[in-house]
Parts: sequence; C-alpha cells; structure tokens
Amino acid sequence: MPPCSPRGDFSRRNLIGLLGSAALVQEGHGLLLPEQASRKLTVVFAGAHPDDPESACGGSMARFSAAGHRVVALYLTRGEAGIDGKSHAEAAAIRSREAERACQILGASPVFCTQVDGATELNAKRYDEFRQVLLAQKPDLVFTHWPIDTHRDHRVTSLLAYDAWQRTQTKGRGAFELYYHEVLTGRQTQQFLPTTYVDVTTTWRRKHDAIYAHVSQKPDNCYELHADMEKFRGLECGCERAEAYVAYARGPARLPIG
Ligand SMILES: [Zn+2]
Repeated sequence: MPPCSPRGDFSRRNLIGLLGSAALVQEGHGLLLPEQASRKLTVVFAGAHPDDPESACGGSMARFSAAGHRVVALYLTRGEAGIDGKSHAEAAAIRSREAERACQILGASPVFCTQVDGATELNAKRYDEFRQVLLAQKPDLVFTHWPIDTHRDHRVTSLLAYDAWQRTQTKGRGAFELYYHEVLTGRQTQQFLPTTYVDVTTTWRRKHDAIYAHVSQKPDNCYELHADMEKFRGLECGCERAEAYVAYARGPARLPIG
C-alpha cells in the first residue's frame, strides 16, 4: 500500500459509491472535496461541548462553508461545568457567546441541545430529543465524536448521533452520511484510524481563530496538540495540514443521487 493511502479498499469507484451523493473523493487519498459536491449540502458538526466541533473539524467547517454549503455546529451542552469559579448558568452564558463567535469565524450556525456538561444522559428520551434536533437541520452529512474517548460526554454524543443515523436507516426518512471525528487524540480520542481526510491547508488559520474565540478554555492548552494532529494527518494523506475522519456510512442505504 502506498504510504499516503488510507487503509482499506479505496478504489475510485468504491469511494464515489461510498460517498457519492454528497461529496467527491480524490483517488488514492480518501480526500473529501467539498467544492466538488454535486449539490449544496447541509453539514452538521456535532460535539459535546462548545469548542469540540471547532477543535475537531474547524478547518473542514470553514472549507465547507466557503464552498457554499450550509454548516451547523451542534452542541450537546453549553459547557456548564467548564469554567472554574463560575456557576453553571454563568459558564453556559459565557461559553455560548464564545461558540457563537467561533461559528461566525467559520461560517457556521450554532445549535444547542439541552443536556448539561458533565452530566449528559443516554436514555430513550435523550435519544429522541437529539434525533429530533438533528433531523430538524435536514443534514446530508453528520460528523460526531468517535465513541472510544476518555470523556464521558463525548461518548454520549457519539452514541446519540449513531442512534439517530440508525433510526433514519430503518425508518427510511432523513438519512444522512455519518463520519466520526477526533479531539485531542491520545488524551481523549483513542484508537482512531482514519479512512477519510479534508485538506485544511488553506483554512486552518480560521480554525485557529475559532478555537481562540473560546477564551475561557485557555486555548493555548489544546491548540498546540491539534496543530500537531493537523500536520500528522496531512502527512498521512499527502498535504500540508488535514483533518481526519472515519466514514461510517457503508451500509446499503445511500442518499439519493442528485
Ligand atoms: Zn469536549
């Protein structure tokens, strides 16, 4: 296998069949090309906390929005437990504003669910709630946390999104393609082996600025690792900087072409 090729059977035909209705893929590298999608898409980037979608996917978000697609950042919580010395209400207000600013930078629209940072729940009511919020956006593509992650809220978000994907497959309504993203790999995301990449060489600075909009999170603590991840993923797929994903949507149910 060439050193730049991702794992698995990635012939051009297979990739276009795999991802075909939503985005095209460059042969041999597993690169999503938002500018070459066959139509304008709605792309939802889900995360447990304000700053998760931006940290994992900010360069991709900027690239999708620049290509004319509708980009949504879906936050499971408002980061209520994320600022020392602040009440949940105070932290939620601060972090919601930071998320809104970050979304402005990336050309995205923020949407918030009603769960609480550090106390997220996984039950029938929460599955239904998340699915309804997600499907209200009419997504074509959904990016969510990889399920093997040291943070409990990230795992919850991952399973909520997977359940929504599963339900739309069996019910035949609102089907979308599902991708997993990575955050602080090694510290949080674990055992993540990408299948798919987005070249963010031209957009990583907007991601940087979006992450730094989350002032309360002391972005110096996390951006450095993400910059290293971008460079490493770039080496994997043959560009300067990239964000990496695992494409899940491999079942027989596909989005309609067109
Ligand atoms: Zn998080």
